[in-house]
Amino acid sequence: MIELQLTDDHDALVQTVREFAQKEVAPYIKEWDEKQESHREIFEKMAALNLLGVCIPEQYGGAGFDYISLGLVCEELEAVDTSLRVAMSVHTGLNSLTLYTWGTEEQKQKYLVPQAKGEQLATYGLTEPGAGSDVVGARSTARREGDEYVLNGEKMWISLAGFADNFLFFCWTDEEKRRQRDHSGMSCFIVERTMKGFTSGTIHGKLGIRAGNTGYFSLQDVRVPKENLVGEEGEGFKIAMFALEQGRFTVAAGATGVIRASRDASVAYANERETFGTKIANHQLVKQKIANMEADYEMSRLLWLKAGWLKNLGQPSGRATSLAKWQATVRSEEAASMAIEVHGANGYSNDYPVERYLRNCKAAIIYEGTRDIHTLMQADWALGLKKEKPARKTLPAWQPADPHRTVAL
Ligand SMILES: Cc1cc2nc3c(=O)[nH]c(=O)nc-3n(C[C@H](O)[C@H](O)[C@H](O)COP(=O)(O)OP(=O)(O)OC[C@H]3O[C@@H](n4cnc5c(N)ncnc54)[C@H](O)[C@@H]3O)c2cc1C
Repeated sequence: MIELQLTDDHDALVQTVREFAQKEVAPYIKEWDEKQESHREIFEKMAALNLLGVCIPEQYGGAGFDYISLGLVCEELEAVDTSLRVAMSVHTGLNSLTLYTWGTEEQKQKYLVPQAKGEQLATYGLTEPGAGSDVVGARSTARREGDEYVLNGEKMWISLAGFADNFLFFCWTDEEKRRQRDHSGMSCFIVERTMKGFTSGTIHGKLGIRAGNTGYFSLQDVRVPKENLVGEEGEGFKIAMFALEQGRFTVAAGATGVIRASRDASVAYANERETFGTKIANHQLVKQKIANMEADYEMSRLLWLKAGWLKNLGQPSGRATSLAKWQATVRSEEAASMAIEVHGANGYSNDYPVERYLRNCKAAIIYEGTRDIHTLMQADWALGLKKEKPARKTLPAWQPADPHRTVAL
């Protein structure tokens, strides 16, 4: 059976997030974007609504909802601004869902519970100045000393680097395997901002997501207890890939929100602006752009819903998630670009939001696997060169929607 219905809980959640984003962010986002200002108190407000732990089980401080709920939150948030969804991606997707799946009970109590409640913010440190797509090109290291590990390295382009309390840090624990580029020599650790030897900074001058905090952090002989190793030594690459799949799901749903926002802004403008004695909505080539946005929205939404549905069922979802991320992000760029054209010169000015949509959505084509990486992966899956990995575990919350209820996707 395939579920194409949302539950009452989903509808209520969408309403809550939409109201929050319209009231707390929409009126100020132009100014924050212009001034490159990120506001930590926004995350406190999101936490008060249980959004930061929306899909984390209640026993670990979350709201106990399912993957579809996580996607719906991301779509609603990014329809207003990408910076909001990015926080969900790194805090909830890349970090908390990874701790929930790979963490020990002690790690869950110590880190996951305050993260799910939004008392602490968390992020994910994989990328380095010299290594992004090529994960095994990383230089960061950890060496065991008694009951501790000593961590060294630099991470770059890290979302929430300036705000996060906790970081997942990926590095080499086996020098020989690093030289051989054998990823089974990589490990994952939890690092706290307050640990001695931790420093961080903010990157300014980004093309987009200017209301979001992006930065770098550096570890110099940071000592962490051996209990902060996530999984086993040598499982870091596997954990990094698992985390990316959760993050990609949030990126796909968020990019779908950009397409919707581009379409809605274009429809409103087309019904208002007149040329040659009629509304531009009556010109066929304007209609075509809006029709393309409509198709892009529906296709992207179905793709992320399918990925979320597979995740809810505990089925392998890497291939579907990659496809959803790839297509939604590429289509969001197309939709935002077309929305600018529908707005004519006004679209080129920040008096209208569509230029921000275009600047914001470019990053999503780069992070969590670039367009090229997803293209290659999709080809490899289709060619049988790559095999789907089994799912590790799902969330306990998922219940099939009421089959008698008809709610449009
Ligand atoms: C706003 C923003 C936020 C980010 N947040 C985070 C974060 O929170 N945590 C984190 O760890 N990282 C984060 N990143 C980093 C992001 O994940 C990397 O930028 C991404 O993985 C690409 O790596 P790179 O920039 O080093 O590009 P490179 O890997 O150097 O790629 C450069 C170009 O070469 C292409 N290329 C590379 N290898 C291949 C190949 N095998 N075949 C074909 N083409 C290839 C790429 O597609 C790209 O076009 C963020 C980035 C941005 C922009």
